[in-house]
Amino acid sequence: MRISVAIDGPAGAGKSTIAKLVSKEFNLMYINTGAMYRAVSLMAKENNIEPSDIEKLKDLIDTLEMHFENDDLILNGINVQDKITMPEISSIVSNYASIPEVREKLVNLQRKMSEKYDVLMDGRDIGTVVLKNAPFKFFLTATAEERAKRRFNELISRGIEVNFDTLLSDIIKRDFIDSNREVDPLKMAEDAIEIDSSNLSIKEVTEFICNYIKNKLQ
Ligand code: C5P
Repeated sequence: MRISVAIDGPAGAGKSTIAKLVSKEFNLMYINTGAMYRAVSLMAKENNIEPSDIEKLKDLIDTLEMHFENDDLILNGINVQDKITMPEISSIVSNYASIPEVREKLVNLQRKMSEKYDVLMDGRDIGTVVLKNAPFKFFLTATAEERAKRRFNELISRGIEVNFDTLLSDIIKRDFIDSNREVDPLKMAEDAIEIDSSNLSIKEVTEFICNYIKNKLQ
């Protein structure tokens, strides 16, 4: 049986850290769909393409080859993982991700990946749109303050200087845009299991998800 796992949730809820651990446990290909929207934003920024320039954005996406190696996004042969997770990309990505034409192209790519491999995907619309029929769906949340704290620590550990309040307001702004856009907004699927990780460790959330999947597979 082809197993697929969907993990959705707002920015900084710990999706990617947990997704990497769960995907290793079940030998799944981890597809970080946020990285794909970030890659499009990075290339649009580098080519001075505004979110309003839809035709140019569509042409741009057609020139992009994206795949994952060791959980990192490889864009046209180059590992761009560090670049796409910088705050200057985080602050623009939701504007590009709100565009229906951009979403259509990326959702198609994501579905093609899921046809080829057993996947674990994380994002905003995986359980509701991309992998609507996934047997395992989780929705990870945490308070905005807790999520900003985690992002802050992660960036500081990478030697990137950030201001906590700016980070918090960026996260709140991004959640608002992601939850209120017209196409495929951030929303919990009706059949997803919600996990509030505000007071849980990464290990606790990972164990919960792994045990849930194991029990269902038995
Ligand atoms: O997951 P991450 O925070 O890296 O995602 C970056 C952005 O990409 C989100 O804030 C959202 O605007 C967009 N995104 C999306 N749909 C997905 C994954 C990410 O719209 N499936």
